[in-house]
Amino acid sequence: MSTLDSTLKPWNTFQLEARAAEVNVISSPDELLHYWQESRRLSQPALLLGEGSNVLFLEDFVGRVLINRIKGIHIAEDALAWHLHIGAGENWHQLVVHLLSSGIPGLENLAMIPGCVGSAPIQNIGAYGVELSQICEYVDVLNFSSGKIERLSAADCLFGYRDSIFKHQYQTGYAIVAVGLLLAKKWVPVLTYGDLVNLEVTTVQPQQVFDEVCRMRSSKLPDPKKIGNAGSFFKNPVVTTETAMAIKSRYPQAPVYSLDDGNFKLAAGWLIDRCDLKGYRVGGAAVHSQQALVLINENNASANDVVALAREVRQRVGEKFNAWLEPEVRFIAAEGEKDAVGVIS
Ligand SMILES: Cc1cc2nc3c(=O)[nH]c(=O)nc-3n(C[C@H](O)[C@H](O)[C@H](O)COP(=O)(O)OP(=O)(O)OC[C@H]3O[C@@H](n4cnc5c(N)ncnc54)[C@H](O)[C@@H]3O)c2cc1C
Repeated sequence: MSTLDSTLKPWNTFQLEARAAEVNVISSPDELLHYWQESRRLSQPALLLGEGSNVLFLEDFVGRVLINRIKGIHIAEDALAWHLHIGAGENWHQLVVHLLSSGIPGLENLAMIPGCVGSAPIQNIGAYGVELSQICEYVDVLNFSSGKIERLSAADCLFGYRDSIFKHQYQTGYAIVAVGLLLAKKWVPVLTYGDLVNLEVTTVQPQQVFDEVCRMRSSKLPDPKKIGNAGSFFKNPVVTTETAMAIKSRYPQAPVYSLDDGNFKLAAGWLIDRCDLKGYRVGGAAVHSQQALVLINENNASANDVVALAREVRQRVGEKFNAWLEPEVRFIAAEGEKDAVGVIS
């Protein structure tokens, strides 16, 4: 495997041109272990991907890319809840649709989030007032050293805002192979965000919430099949009371949310918009003209275009608000992940 024979363009929603030595679609934990061990034997890097909707390839990847398609949906139930065991390679949105049509609600706020089920715990996906952590029962990981599958309870996963143990202690040496979800039979709609607040809490049905979420997302977010992107490029920054109050006194309309730990969360999209960056371009990359938090591959962008654009956005927002944005997207270099903040600082 000395040449970079395989294109990664179909495997990343940014649709960036990058290559890898080899791409293998895997369908079982055994197959995953086999390819991983083979890469180790050849002293080559290996990268596991779901649908590539949260990665930016900075350059060609010199090793093997493994595409996770471990399938399977198993549903058990007791008097109070459904217990689901889902293969990590299942598509997240298709799961939401499948469950809803089977009379199992609870995931509708998370409709249309691209990617695989196995990637969902990594950044604790969230949208419209619901996060994976609220419905996750456990995560099964393959330990590459022992070859064994270990189960982490939801508490073990240390979920936080776009964060979990899978970005820290369990980032290398492990792969998520299945996720356990617990959905209460007593459905409680979450109608706190966006146009969901207009739905009538006493009569609303899960399908209506699903339809409304899909409608809002389709009207706001660029479809990665048409315009390359990786969703929100930056996380919402968390700042001290001092910084939050300084922003609030200059911009009373600024969205500022207090957190349990005494800090404040700002809306990254609002900050970028206030720097007049919507539609701003570097090479073929641009800030989306309707959704400032999304950077797009507008016209055959290179990774350098996207990085230069992200750097400019971070700098402009930092200088204006003293709030320094950090990418939510994972940056992948020739041999593996690179510190994204370091790359754009
Ligand atoms: C249009 C759009 C909208 C989006 N909206 C949202 C949103 O509303 N909320 C939200 O939270 N996110 C959102 N995202 C981000 C993205 O959908 C999620 O992060 C998703 O969970 C990524 O899944 P994936 O399978 O594509 O992951 P990938 O991009 O394939 O992988 C992401 C990272 O996880 C690692 N990884 C992948 N699979 C495994 C595994 N099985 N075990 C261990 N490591 C693994 C990869 O190496 C990589 O570092 C959006 C993205 C897009 C393009």
